Amino acid sequence: MIEIDGSQGEGGGQIVRSSLALSLLTGKAFRIFNLRAGRKQPGLKRQHLTAVNAAREVGDASVTGAELNSKEIVFEPGETKPGNYHFEISTAGSITLVLQTVLPALMLAAAPSQIKLSGGTHNMMAPPFDFLERCFVPLLNRMGPTVELNLNSYGFYPAGGGEFDATITPVDRMQLRGLTIVDRGKLLQRRVRGIVSALPANIAERETARVVRKLNWDRTLVEHIEAPNPKGPGNILFAELEFENVTTMFSGFGQVGTRAEKVADGVVRNVKKYQKTKAPIGPHLADQLMLPMAIAANFSGVTSKFKTANPTQHTRTHADIIRTFLDVEVGLEEQGDGTVIVQVSQNVS
Ligand code: ATP
Repeated sequence: MIEIDGSQGEGGGQIVRSSLALSLLTGKAFRIFNLRAGRKQPGLKRQHLTAVNAAREVGDASVTGAELNSKEIVFEPGETKPGNYHFEISTAGSITLVLQTVLPALMLAAAPSQIKLSGGTHNMMAPPFDFLERCFVPLLNRMGPTVELNLNSYGFYPAGGGEFDATITPVDRMQLRGLTIVDRGKLLQRRVRGIVSALPANIAERETARVVRKLNWDRTLVEHIEAPNPKGPGNILFAELEFENVTTMFSGFGQVGTRAEKVADGVVRNVKKYQKTKAPIGPHLADQLMLPMAIAANFSGVTSKFKTANPTQHTRTHADIIRTFLDVEVGLEEQGDGTVIVQVSQNVS
């Protein structure tokens, strides 16, 4: 049984989700104590609990401690069962994070899966659906599996009620390919997207107008979306840069009391910061890519690497969890220009 101190590093929910994902894949049982001890409200919240229950169902696992606010769980996986699933968070908790928990096992399973997820699709502390669809999944698909996502409805905090479908066509684990993304390649396209749900359209219009003006981008790059059949109020703004080798998106959430222009300025700041360095992979993708890369290194022996700006503590904690379950090396090599090459390879020692 692998013992994991949930207070290590950032002490957040990623430790739980990645442990579940890796346990399903390796068949290794684990116990996490001090669960999410680094957070203001520690223990399992709805989003994490849904992830634990989703992993239990997919992996035919036996679990103890799977309760709201629980600070300790024991997870013993059985065999992964591909098939049709519906996972639901009754609050606006992030369903993109629930998908990321079961996706690694299902993308290497013996048959395809079809998953419906209901809850929050656009959450402040999680990959928004659009990020998953345009940034993360295309890179994952380059590694071998075919994952297709389809958004049925938007779910914003606090109402939730969003839904999307994921169709997963798996690949043999020995056939996984590595990825090397050390430069961006040619800039192919830029987009600015403002989405409102049950709120006036002019919020999105003000946000996108400000972004294109401050970045000196063309107005034709702008798209506005009003959520059909909205479940509750919400607003998100995206700026997207699509390069040959990677697509990066920066997002900002509208909040009561925050002016649309301020939301736009936050996004502009992040785009400028990204444009200043030559690193293709932003902090969120850095977090999320390490897991599939490590899985590929462990099972098919391929080496992957990417360049990112200084990795966050979140990324470093994630690397530690990955090393706990898999026989891989995650090397972080400073380049001297504020960027770091992250290399994920099979452990040869
Ligand atoms: P906790 O609930 O304990 O705060 P958590 O694990 O649920 O922890 P994080 O640890 O912060 O939350 O991880 C959330 C994940 O969502 C990370 O992989 C992070 O990179 C990703 N993420 C957060 N914000 C964005 C964003 N704007 N775009 C893309 N990905 C994001």
